[in-house]
Amino acid sequence: MSIITNRAGMVARSEAKAGAPPNADIDSLTGLASRQAFLNTLEGRLRTEASPRCALLLLGIDDFRAFNDMHGHAEGDEILRRVARRLRDASPRDAILGRIGGDEFAVLLPSIADPTLVRHVSAAILSLQTEPHEYGNRRHHVLASLGACVMPAGGDNASDALASASLALGRAKRDGGRTIRFFKPQMRTDVTTRLSLVQALRDAYAQRQFELLYQPQIDLRDGRVVGAEALMRWRHPTQGLLTPASFIDALAASSVAADVGVWLLHTACAQARMWSLGFADAPRVAINLFAAQLSESRLLTEVRHVLRELALAPERLELEITETIALQQGDEFSGQLQTLRRDGVTLTCDDFGTGYASLSFLKSFPVDRIKIDQSFIRNVTQNPVDAAIVRAMVNVGGSLGIGVVAEGVETVEQRDFLAENGCHEVQGYLYGRPMSADKFTEFLQQSAAR
Ligand code: C2E
Ligand code: CA
Ligand code: CA
Repeated sequence: MSIITNRAGMVARSEAKAGAPPNADIDSLTGLASRQAFLNTLEGRLRTEASPRCALLLLGIDDFRAFNDMHGHAEGDEILRRVARRLRDASPRDAILGRIGGDEFAVLLPSIADPTLVRHVSAAILSLQTEPHEYGNRRHHVLASLGACVMPAGGDNASDALASASLALGRAKRDGGRTIRFFKPQMRTDVTTRLSLVQALRDAYAQRQFELLYQPQIDLRDGRVVGAEALMRWRHPTQGLLTPASFIDALAASSVAADVGVWLLHTACAQARMWSLGFADAPRVAINLFAAQLSESRLLTEVRHVLRELALAPERLELEITETIALQQGDEFSGQLQTLRRDGVTLTCDDFGTGYASLSFLKSFPVDRIKIDQSFIRNVTQNPVDAAIVRAMVNVGGSLGIGVVAEGVETVEQRDFLAENGCHEVQGYLYGRPMSADKFTEFLQQSAAR
């Protein structure tokens, strides 16, 4: 027997049972169907209908783990309850709703005469979820993505249907989140492609196909080259020089990430050492940290080891980390970064302004610099909102006594805006694209001669 006949019935049931022993069919936090109960219902539906015209939607909260770490589990639970309530409000009356993972919700639309209905319902669900949650004096933005599959294409049993919807949801998240994707059979082969990409990355590491390019950071007050951000490239045997966009996610998720991370640290530090020997005023070299690249246990020891081995002053090294990654990693990792910071390594908050709680993040996670994300710089001279945000970020840096650098500076107008508003360090195509270490050395020679 399937316990959940419709959502009204289900809610009534969960409320009636308040105070009673936990019911395995109902998710106690949200009152929706539990994962197992939902899948049983779905399975029943797919088995009994001769030609089941139903659709499965999967709603996933973007970066929920970061939210939980930032605001605590009680607040996280409250958000999940609210997401569930909104899901109920936005779904048709005959929809069956379940919570099928920590931050994943499922909607079964049991009868869809008109396929465009699925699009409408999906859009309505997502649009309601993107509105801010306000309660007490708190206001949270929780963003979500949605994957959908329509039967029979999605599968003829519950587990296939769920897998199809998950593939669609995964695609929605990879495409940046806050969006809807519909399952296509092609997505199954994309997974295989991704798996072979992981294998290819392993080979690439073994065959030394990764390279680092360096992009200059300039102090506008005196024109000095104060920094060099190391940016990874993959010299692919047949596809040429690939930027991280095409492989960094697969790399971060693969087992070779840690090896690449160590290689990257060594290579960038060795380069910093070369420049510090060759130039009186050598730039600091910045590397980007992603989670698996230097796993918790290795980060501190590895960085200290490399600095000692190369006799490189910690002040010559900078670590760029995004808020999301810092939050995903938790306390141990943050503690190690703070220790390195006390050693003299510069710690920078990358993509500043794009995270969940950039300002309160700075409170729990002290940094030496913030890097204003290029999305704010792009239209800073045309868009007054971007201009106001950039000014505010420069002020935050000033008040906290930490450095501010702007990235993605492409035009003289953007540079002038930044200089006038007190942001004196810049990085962008206006000064130089990411270049090989040799080219960067020439760049340093030219700027020293000026
Ligand atoms: P990011 O850390 O935000 O790096 C800045 C990106 O902006 C770089 O792209 C850079 O080439 C580009 N950029 C710099 N100036 C300008 C400009 O004036 N205009 C425009 N339109 N773009 C500019 P890239 O090299 O493709 O890197 C993309 C992302 O890949 C990086 O974003 C970073 O998140 C990641 N990444 C790159 N190298 C590494 C690495 O070694 N480790 C890790 N973990 N991530 C890396
Ligand atoms: Ca960066
Ligand atoms: Ca950045």
